[in-house]
Amino acid sequence: MRLISVTPFLRVIHRLDVNMFNHYNLDEIRDRARAAFIGMAIGDALGATVEFMTASEIASKYGTFKEIIGGGWLRLKPGQVTDDTQMALCIARAIVKSQAWSLGAVADNFAAWLKSRPVDCGDTCRKGIRAYMLHGTMETPPNEWDAGNGAAMRMLPVALFSLPDGELLRKYTLEQAHLTHNNPVSDAACICLGELLHLAICGAEKSRLRRQVDGLTSRFPSFAFDPYRGLASGYVVDTLQTVFHWFFRGKSFDECLVGTVNQGGDADTTGAICGMLAGAYYGMEGIPQRWLKKMDRAVIAEIESVTLKLVAASPLGTVF
Ligand SMILES: [Mg+2]
Repeated sequence: MRLISVTPFLRVIHRLDVNMFNHYNLDEIRDRARAAFIGMAIGDALGATVEFMTASEIASKYGTFKEIIGGGWLRLKPGQVTDDTQMALCIARAIVKSQAWSLGAVADNFAAWLKSRPVDCGDTCRKGIRAYMLHGTMETPPNEWDAGNGAAMRMLPVALFSLPDGELLRKYTLEQAHLTHNNPVSDAACICLGELLHLAICGAEKSRLRRQVDGLTSRFPSFAFDPYRGLASGYVVDTLQTVFHWFFRGKSFDECLVGTVNQGGDADTTGAICGMLAGAYYGMEGIPQRWLKKMDRAVIAEIESVTLKLVAASPLGTVF
């Protein structure tokens, strides 16, 4: 059952009023939060196999690509995740360890991760993390070219930790994003994605999520996705158009994700973002067991642990 009202959830909450939370069932919220984080990892692991392929190359090689098999240009093991999930976990660990928002802890975790020679790291992320390592830079300078999807792909932990406060979401979002990407189009994408995650985790219907996206496209018309152009590159506009197209058209977690990754392009990241959104919307019962069984067990165990802690430490978790 979806929840009754989500209207209070995008209001700015300065003083927590326990009565505001009476409509919400924390068990359902925890379930959707877990599904969002696990869905992100599944989308990453599924999509990575077909990253940089075109939709027609995928169709001629696989028909419809829909199984977690590893490989791809990164030569992954089946169920192995990439930078999308790893950077999200860096943020999640920083919050859980600090029991608070600490941008320095996030930056330290990004730096340690980059030093660990990750399987993949985008150029803009690498540049921002290196600026922190070399100069302590916590906010990369504004750059019209830094509109890749690298800040959006790691949004989930700050959405969980800020539940359901839109003002906190915005603060954490911009701070984490600007470690590597300082661009108004990236910022708008990150904030909208965070708002969609808040709404979906709190039980909103797709029609409500669609209205939130319409708000984005009225301010930034380039995000309009109907008619869908079929571009799925790492440019955050292409990425979100692909996710929106398949998320709003799909009738299940499986359909949303399969449609998304079969567009190819930056398929691990479109998969990760669609996976977090569809996971938040459909909950754990929507996630196919055949995919869950293929995932790296240590990654899933850590996701389960940090997700519960992030929700418990959020404004929502602290009133239950
Ligand atoms: Mg990746």
